[in-house]
Amino acid sequence: MPTASFLTKIGKMQSAGCRLCRITRESRGESTDGLADETHGHINSAGCEGLATTVTAAHHSIWRHLYDSMHAAQKPKSKLKFVTLDKESNMNTLWRREEFLRICSKEDLKDILVEVTIPVKKIESQEARYNLYPGSFFVNRFWGR
Ligand SMILES: [Zn+2]
Repeated sequence: MPTASFLTKIGKMQSAGCRLCRITRESRGESTDGLADETHGHINSAGCEGLATTVTAAHHSIWRHLYDSMHAAQKPKSKLKFVTLDKESNMNTLWRREEFLRICSKEDLKDILVEVTIPVKKIESQEARYNLYPGSFFVNRFWGR
């Protein structure tokens, strides 16, 4: 299926803005200014407001299948421990559990991360989600806030 981005490039559409994001924003009564370009990458990501729920559900389904398969294939002598068989977790939810707090405090882990973190390019579509406070993008992204 040709995307709005492609159709705009070949002169068949006026705007490359994502049509699914537009419909979603219009249904919420929000501005349609600054829509992301409708590319295959965009509509297959959770960054697309129109498909975010579907893409996220697909991700969780695939993750659950992979995780269950890895757990089922685990050898009895394996030292791997599957800690989130019940659900997917992020660092923030893991560090609410006593067994992780025994490893180190959340604050100690944060200090270690600051030392070892390799700068990662901020993803523009994630900016609003994680950049709650100035300079908080990577910390919030890591903790899944
Ligand atoms: Zn979109």
